[in-house]
Amino acid sequence: MLRSQSSWATRLALAALLLGLCLASLLLWQRLLSAQQERVAERVDYQARSLARQLEASLHDQVDGLRRIALQWNHRGRIPMDEWLLDCRFSLERFKGYQAIEWLGADLAMRWIEPLQGNEAAQQFRLTPAHPNFNLAIRAKASGEPRFSNSFALLQGGRGFILYTPLYIRDAQQARVFDGFLQGVFRVERLMDELLIPLNNGDFSAYLLEAGRPIYSHEQPNTLDALQQEVPLDLLNNQNFALRLKPTEQLVQQLATPLPQVVLGASLTISVLLVAALGLALSNARRASALQAGNRRLNAELEQREQIEHVLRDSRERLQLVLDLTDSSQDGLFIIDPQSRDILYMNQATYSRLGYSAEAFRELLKQDPDQLLPGYHDWLEGVRLAQQNKLPSIFQQKMLRHDGSEQAAEISAQLVRVNDHEYLIGVTRDNSQRLLFEAQLQRLSQQDGLTGLYNRRFFDSQLNSEWRRLRRQGTALTLLMLDIDYFKSYNDQLGHLAGDDALRQVSEVLHTSLQREGDSACRYGGEEFAIILADTGLEGGLHVAARVQQLLEALNLAHPTNPLGRLTLSIGLAVVEPGSGESPDLLVAHCDQALYRAKHQGRNRICVWQGEA
Ligand code: GH3
Ligand code: MG
Ligand code: MG
Repeated sequence: MLRSQSSWATRLALAALLLGLCLASLLLWQRLLSAQQERVAERVDYQARSLARQLEASLHDQVDGLRRIALQWNHRGRIPMDEWLLDCRFSLERFKGYQAIEWLGADLAMRWIEPLQGNEAAQQFRLTPAHPNFNLAIRAKASGEPRFSNSFALLQGGRGFILYTPLYIRDAQQARVFDGFLQGVFRVERLMDELLIPLNNGDFSAYLLEAGRPIYSHEQPNTLDALQQEVPLDLLNNQNFALRLKPTEQLVQQLATPLPQVVLGASLTISVLLVAALGLALSNARRASALQAGNRRLNAELEQREQIEHVLRDSRERLQLVLDLTDSSQDGLFIIDPQSRDILYMNQATYSRLGYSAEAFRELLKQDPDQLLPGYHDWLEGVRLAQQNKLPSIFQQKMLRHDGSEQAAEISAQLVRVNDHEYLIGVTRDNSQRLLFEAQLQRLSQQDGLTGLYNRRFFDSQLNSEWRRLRRQGTALTLLMLDIDYFKSYNDQLGHLAGDDALRQVSEVLHTSLQREGDSACRYGGEEFAIILADTGLEGGLHVAARVQQLLEALNLAHPTNPLGRLTLSIGLAVVEPGSGESPDLLVAHCDQALYRAKHQGRNRICVWQGEA
């Protein structure tokens, strides 16, 4: 927007500059033109004046013959007619401007005419006061000086002039006596033609003015009225004339120089070129600055691209590192499309730990995922649900190896959405070792170190969980508490090691006497044991207790201070319906009371708690 505004402003400025320069050029042209016209007018004026002077001089020269005749006449007296005729003819021959040369006698009557032919009409002429030239002639006579008349109507026809030259002779007393006029008669046209044409050269239309009126014209084609000049003309002392000259266009063209046009053309061209050059320079400057801006942008983009490439390279390297890392990982890492089951990425552990090649794994996952992860679709639904409910998304699954065996797998899975596409990112871990280890740990944590039976902790939790289970089922639970008789003295007599050994053997007896899964024998503390019998009533409990007694009897472990000479056990038994409102602790207490009674009644016996206080 701003740029187009500035470009318009530049164009306007350039247009204004061009206009200014053109106006200045026109002004200059005008000045030169008027200066030239002045010069032409001066030249025309000069030429007109020089023509007029030449014309005057020429007329003066041409009529010089008449002056010489008059001089002879005045000095020698009236010259004979023959001689006069000779002189006249000589003058007529020399100057074709004459109509005639005449002698008018002192009585002002015509005497001689040369040539007669063509001038017969003047033969009887006498100059009378009525004649327009009479006064002029009288003045010439009085002054003794020649006088040139104004134009008048000739007797011969047409208009003409007469040059009156007074003639004198000497009388007997040598006094000067007027002897008439020697007259040069001229027709206007002929005189002017003879005088002008040789001088004119066709450069002017020439007009002879008499008292401001034209009486003769010699015209040329294409003359310029505007440049016409009028020059006063002194024809043999008659100042009644003027010469009007109109120059021809040709003359004006010759006098004029093409300078104004050349200057106009040149200055217009220079103006246009200057403005064009300026415009070009400005547009170049604009283009250059646009180019510069473009370059700067390009450089910035290049820099940015380099940075991006650097970051990309960095990211690629990191990615490669991550990939290398994932490949060296024992855990399987994979990214799949959960719907199509196309694999976007998986590391080596994903397929190799199950005994597959990458291709076979890829193919199988696509074709029949249950062959790899039984219940794949349910599991996927589970992942989705866990994610929706923000639950831990670690799943303990079983995967199938290539050889068909199962592999316990812990799969941590997450669904992510990238560009409107859902991906499943998973990490699988072969869990069998850990599970084994955990089971071992579990067992160890539940086992008594000396006897291998369940320990007291297990007893507590087992009793409670069985209690809850059986309460739901509404079936009975029987608890046996067993205590070795006179064991303190056994230790005392045979030593602690033997005591420990006896404990182990008794434990073996307990273990053997349990036949149902779910029954558990525990070392309750010291030489005291407990047996939990789930889903078992009094009869079953007595049966197990009796078997323990029997097996122990069969073992026949010597006990020096026992009255029976062998190791014996006292057993307290309590049966309870877990739904009856009692508690596990109460069951233990009842059982304890029954055991107490068994001890009290002489040991090596089974007593059942029967609600006694
Ligand atoms: P009673 O017939 O009334 O049960 O008499 P008793 O001597 O067995 O008395 P009591 O049940 O109080 O016996 C506890 C004795 O058991 C004390 C101790 O010497 C012995 N005892 C407890 N734990 C162990 C054990 O881990 N190893 C051995 N060797 N002896 C133990
Ligand atoms: Mg005891
Ligand atoms: Mg005891």
